[in-house]
Amino acid sequence: MAKWNESIDMEAPQFKDFAKTMTDFIAEYLENIRDRRVLPTVQPGYLRPLIPEEAPEKPDQWQDVMADIERVIMPGVTHWHSPKFHAYFPTANSYPAIVADMLSGAIACIGFTWIASPACTELEVEMLNWLGKMIDLPKEFLACSGGKGGGVIQGTASEATLVALLGAKARTMEKVKAEHPDWDESTIRSKLVGYCSAQAHSSVERAGLLGGVQLRLIKADSENRLRGEALEDAIKEDIAAGKIPFYVVATLGTTNSCAFDYLDEIGPVGNKYNVWVHVDAAYAGSAFICPEYRHYMKGIETADSFNFNPHKWMLVNFDCSAMWLKEPEWVVNAFNVDPLYLKHDQQGAAPDYRHWQIPLGRRFRALKLWFVLRLYGVENLQAHIRRHCGFAKQFADLCSNDERFEIIGKVQMGLVCFRLKGSNELNEKLLKRINGRGKIHMVPSKINDVYFIRMAVCSRFTVSEDMVYSWTEVSAAADEELLTNGN
Ligand SMILES: *Cc1c(COP(=O)(O)O)cnc(C)c1O
Repeated sequence: MAKWNESIDMEAPQFKDFAKTMTDFIAEYLENIRDRRVLPTVQPGYLRPLIPEEAPEKPDQWQDVMADIERVIMPGVTHWHSPKFHAYFPTANSYPAIVADMLSGAIACIGFTWIASPACTELEVEMLNWLGKMIDLPKEFLACSGGKGGGVIQGTASEATLVALLGAKARTMEKVKAEHPDWDESTIRSKLVGYCSAQAHSSVERAGLLGGVQLRLIKADSENRLRGEALEDAIKEDIAAGKIPFYVVATLGTTNSCAFDYLDEIGPVGNKYNVWVHVDAAYAGSAFICPEYRHYMKGIETADSFNFNPHKWMLVNFDCSAMWLKEPEWVVNAFNVDPLYLKHDQQGAAPDYRHWQIPLGRRFRALKLWFVLRLYGVENLQAHIRRHCGFAKQFADLCSNDERFEIIGKVQMGLVCFRLKGSNELNEKLLKRINGRGKIHMVPSKINDVYFIRMAVCSRFTVSEDMVYSWTEVSAAADEELLTNGN
């Protein structure tokens, strides 16, 4: 065996030992994750005193690094894959995806063009075909249909929203320039206006800021769903004021309460006014692999782009945000810079994904999609979604049976929004108590000035008993809070 410090690099034998040890650590960590305190107790700045002030001049041993994981890192980790973690939305995690990321790290190609690693591009094309078929996307979105459409893996839903906005902007700019050859670009740009529900994710509003265009937030209905009529009213008003509507985002499964915009109303309005329709289904989109949830996609044929995050709810580790476009050329052509060093003979025969995204570089992310789809099979992925939805129903039932509480909105997927009947302040204190007890973790939201608590089912390790445990925690925290309040 080569001695550790005889070469600059770690040698293969050490790598194998290190990686095997890490594999054992990972399996132990995940299998026993429910025994860890879900929220850390450290204070800001906790880490600096635990490590040297300078990088080591001479290499450490990998065993020293391993030992420091429990000492330095774990005390400051929020355990997202604990069954006691109910904050935000889930982020995915599975053994097949973790192993695929190892291989991606080993190949370590930058797949910006086809020739930069043909497998990287081609597997991505095929995986987006597989996935698109799994959710029954209209064939106009799929590369395998032989039309213009196709899919791409973005890093996040936020990037997909921005990319779609930029494509929409390019499409409308071209059209308006043809109609008004005397208008300059900045005049047209200043007239552009996009739309989304006031319930849309903050990244939609941010896409407007990043894209340098106005984005209007439209009030949703009493069930927090954006309706076509409200959109059409806003569009007409803006047209009358001399503005140019160009983009609308419909959200399927809002972050606040998992509400579903009326895509079947919004889509036709968008089409009528030449407004690009983008669908953000970041969380709920994974559920569309189950036929019984596809009614929420009604109107999908009217969309120009569709996006969901397998990295949220489909067991593919971050980052894997699947996006399909009916006419990717608007995005591809909008930012097409083509320096000589990136040109190659096969241009046009396969997508050069660098034109489909904001950065130039991209990892081999399709591998983890491939591994997960093959090693779970559609059947088990569907079972995963259905189990989580069932757990949410179970928690909602427990909550409904306690007359001190009320459920906010409908429980449609793996999210339950609930609150104590009473003031916002009371519920803020309740949540503080829940998180303070440290056994489970939840975050709040607020709609129309009503503060509530969100319980998201997040872990693939969750079992029915965990819902009872989490509900018992909420109930105990409520007992404490109501007692100190003198109620
Ligand atoms: C989580 C979420 C996002 C943001 O997802 P990222 O991939 O982190 O950008 C966007 N929209 C909705 C509806 C979400 O739930």
